[in-house]
Amino acid sequence: MKKGIKFKILGVFILIFIVLIVNSIGAITNFYRLSNSIENIMESNYKSIVAAQNMIVALERQDSAELAYMFSTDQVAANHFRDNEIEFLKWLSRAEDNITEPKEKETLQKIHKLYIQYIDKFSYLIDIQKNQGTNESRVYYYNEILPLFEQSKKVCRDLQNLNQEGMIIRKDTAHDISIKASYSTLLVATITIFIGFLLAFYLTNKIVEPIYNLIEKIKKVAEGDYQQQLDIVGNDEIAQLAQEFNVMAQKLQNFDKLNVKKLMKEKQKSEAIVESISEGIIVTDEEHRLILVNKSAERIFNIREKDVLHKHFLEAIKREDMFVIVDKVKKRSDRDEYKKYTDITIEMEGVKKYYRMNIMPIQTRDEDNIGVVTLIQDITKLKEVDQIKSEFVSTVSHEFRTPLTSISMGVGLLLDQVVGEINDDQKELLEAVKEDGERLKNLVSDLLDLSRIESGKIQMDFDSYNIKDIIMHAADSFKIQAQNKNVNIVVDAREYLSKVKADFNKISWVLTNLIGNALRYVPRDGTGRIEIIAKETANKMLICVVDNGQGIPEEYQQRIFEKFIQVKSNNGENTGGTGLGLAISKEIVNAHGGEIWVKSKIGEGSTFYFTLSIGI
Ligand code: ADP
Repeated sequence: MKKGIKFKILGVFILIFIVLIVNSIGAITNFYRLSNSIENIMESNYKSIVAAQNMIVALERQDSAELAYMFSTDQVAANHFRDNEIEFLKWLSRAEDNITEPKEKETLQKIHKLYIQYIDKFSYLIDIQKNQGTNESRVYYYNEILPLFEQSKKVCRDLQNLNQEGMIIRKDTAHDISIKASYSTLLVATITIFIGFLLAFYLTNKIVEPIYNLIEKIKKVAEGDYQQQLDIVGNDEIAQLAQEFNVMAQKLQNFDKLNVKKLMKEKQKSEAIVESISEGIIVTDEEHRLILVNKSAERIFNIREKDVLHKHFLEAIKREDMFVIVDKVKKRSDRDEYKKYTDITIEMEGVKKYYRMNIMPIQTRDEDNIGVVTLIQDITKLKEVDQIKSEFVSTVSHEFRTPLTSISMGVGLLLDQVVGEINDDQKELLEAVKEDGERLKNLVSDLLDLSRIESGKIQMDFDSYNIKDIIMHAADSFKIQAQNKNVNIVVDAREYLSKVKADFNKISWVLTNLIGNALRYVPRDGTGRIEIIAKETANKMLICVVDNGQGIPEEYQQRIFEKFIQVKSNNGENTGGTGLGLAISKEIVNAHGGEIWVKSKIGEGSTFYFTLSIGI
């Protein structure tokens, strides 16, 4: 892998580091020179100045000692002179050891010379004082010694001035050094900062800019725009990154093209399947907006998919009755407690057609309903056949009734032996005929009832009732039968439930039929139990008849509401029913605007549900 950027950054840091080291060495050298020059001042000039001052002091003391000696000829004064002579020579020798200034050596030699003369002259003064007296010695002092004393002092002062001037020169030098050091340090620091700025700018352009560029491109790729390519400049890490990015974007682009093609193919396939289904299909989303309408559905409702897509169900289909069911299925949480299909009629250009709506919720994995699929099956033909069948059955039943009544009556008269005596065999035969006749009469009467309800010939006598009253009425009629069969019938309905809109006798009939069926299938060993429950749900009354009988197989659960459908018992025994009870119940409940369905499990029992409207 190329390491261009890495080396560039490293190089920049090394360069800055070197510049900093040079700057630091320069600053250290300057400070060293500065401190040296201060030391020089202290060492060379200051010592000589002190020596000169002390020599002057010693000279002056010697002069005083000389004067004192002249007036008193005292040995103490002579001794004092000698002591200061030692002192003077001590400072003179120090000054001689510390020659730093030009002309300093000559000055010191002059001092030395003058001082030797001065000392000699004092010894001569002692002799004059002793031999010729004070007056002579005074004359000698003023003429010979005093001028020498003044001259020596002056040369000492010259030495002092010489060193003071040197000190000033050195001070100025130190000042110059310090200013130079400041400027040079400042200069190097400025250059370093400037180089730093240049490098930072260079690095920003070289590293950060391409990275920003890359980020922009990546964002676009994330948004699904895979046609992104980066310019490759140089062959460092950034260039390598750009190259890898280009490869990745290209791969994504290819993958996208491939997938889109595949998806399009799949979509076309499923669209073709949906379109070719002869049943109407309408799919609505969570807000009941249409997201799919197939060709058959377009035909049924005389709409065009492109005109109604994303419109609300009611706006597009304009069928309140259908929408109520679609909405109910969408909101339903318990999937089992709803009827699987509903029949509707649609009148198009004066022709009435019948359709069966099969409505299923679209569920997510968390069982949330996110929409509804409505399947619309044309059942007009079935209905027509059914109608013909009903009319035929109705006519036949009607025609059967009169002869059946006369057969029953005739058999009754024969059994009562009104027309003559009969033997036991004849009696048995006649009783069998009577029993079958009764069954036939019941069947005919049921068939007639059903065809009358179906054709709408029986009018419902609606009023508002307390559902508990109707339930109690139906349950009471089974009291003795239940006792005989050792079955417990329980009613669970609150007094304060809302009233229902119903035909009392018809709903009693439905309940009687449901309880009668339940009683037929519950065990008779004392464990048999039938429960009739009424509970209020959203503006509906739900009535349930629960039993713990043998249960109904899954495949029969929808069909038992059709005419003559009976579940085949294992031993092929006839249960004695006609297979019409539930069909009649369904017609009655539907005429009330309600629904009826069953939920059952083999071996556990069955629950029959039906709903009624609440209201007065
Ligand atoms: P039937 O007169 O035969 O009872 P129905 O229409 O009332 O006619 O019932 C149709 C069939 O449904 C019955 O024959 C029976 O097989 C089944 N069935 C109805 N109710 C129950 C029940 N509570 N438990 C088990 N099966 C039942």
